[in-house]
Amino acid sequence: MSENIIKKTYTCIICPNGCDIEAEIKDGEILSITGHTCPKGEAYVHQELTAPTRTIATSVLVLGGELPLASVRLTNPIPKDKIFPAMEEIKKLTLTAPVKEGTVVLEKVCGLDSDVIVTKNVQVK
Ligand code: SF4
Repeated sequence: MSENIIKKTYTCIICPNGCDIEAEIKDGEILSITGHTCPKGEAYVHQELTAPTRTIATSVLVLGGELPLASVRLTNPIPKDKIFPAMEEIKKLTLTAPVKEGTVVLEKVCGLDSDVIVTKNVQVK
């Protein structure tokens, strides 16, 4: 029986604590979860097992700015397997200064329920 039980370890990415969580799984069902220090960690492991998501924080080019790049992030996490195509879409962006924090620079990346927004002001050079 116990040979069907697999142990998986996760590092929770929900907050900076980064708790190491261990889950015992049998036939796709979670038998136990240990190592989390709050309920969000348990929810994170459930999500990782069923529909893992990730977010993106990166930079895009800015023309005519005091800085060459502006930092951006997604407004919502997206399915893990869409991270690469979303990065490809974001890489195509070029902004022109001034760039204002909070501006949506790409709506519904890859048709998903997540926008790309600027997280840093870039003034004109
Ligand atoms: S389990 Fe809770 S405290 Fe630990 S990293 Fe996840 S969210 Fe943070």
